[in-house]
Amino acid sequence: MQNKTKIEKALLAPSAYKLQIEVLNKFAAGDITKNRLIMQHIPKTSLTTQLFLAAKKGTPIVTFGRKNKPGIMILAGVHGNEYPAQIAAVKLINRLAVEELNVTVRVIPFAIPFSTERSLRSWKGQDPNRTANLYGTPTNNILAYSKRNRVKYLGDFHSTRPGGYPGKLSVLCSEIPCLLSFQMADFIEKETKSTLLSFTKAGSIYPGALEDVFNLAGIPAVTGESMSPHGTVMPGSVNASLEQMYAFLKFHKVLKKAPEAT
Ligand SMILES: [Zn+2]
Repeated sequence: MQNKTKIEKALLAPSAYKLQIEVLNKFAAGDITKNRLIMQHIPKTSLTTQLFLAAKKGTPIVTFGRKNKPGIMILAGVHGNEYPAQIAAVKLINRLAVEELNVTVRVIPFAIPFSTERSLRSWKGQDPNRTANLYGTPTNNILAYSKRNRVKYLGDFHSTRPGGYPGKLSVLCSEIPCLLSFQMADFIEKETKSTLLSFTKAGSIYPGALEDVFNLAGIPAVTGESMSPHGTVMPGSVNASLEQMYAFLKFHKVLKKAPEAT
């Protein structure tokens, strides 16, 4: 209840908390409220409602801190049918709204609202996590935005289905060209129950994956995967994703104090 009051306050006085919502990818707009499972699991706050309104116009980007300062980015929903990370990102946004932060943080809870609304994995017949290197795709526009706004580190959060790849709670990274990608993933592995999956060179296995394209652009990036079949929310999967996000924030010393248990 107290949190809600603080969030209300954040919305009333965004300048005090320096919370802003921008929109990118107008062509990827969607109505998240039509996704029944996501609606069942997210906190119903006025801030969440603001996210839905923004998603109806495109990819919502929530910035905590000074917009013109370098910062870090947390991304979810590159695959619209992977729910745990998207739900975790909404929870994270509601939490960060009442925290004091040391670092500017940008959170994208729904990379492609159009796909989230319809529980789609692909975008125009292509995997959005294989086309971040192609001009004009939703994920390439997120890269371009990140360069423009001096994003320094990216955490991209997904969920993997049992029996798929990687098929387990894990964190993916590479060592070349950004060793920090490996270092961030190594930290997340130690802070959570995630398995570390490290590749030597970014882009060698999955060209066009967001994590790789960021690393190749000199923005150290990791991919977090929690486990849940596509289009579902497996028990524990949202918290697992949220823990990965918090570990990413902890690596960058974002929070002034440790978060309370969720
Ligand atoms: Zn995915």
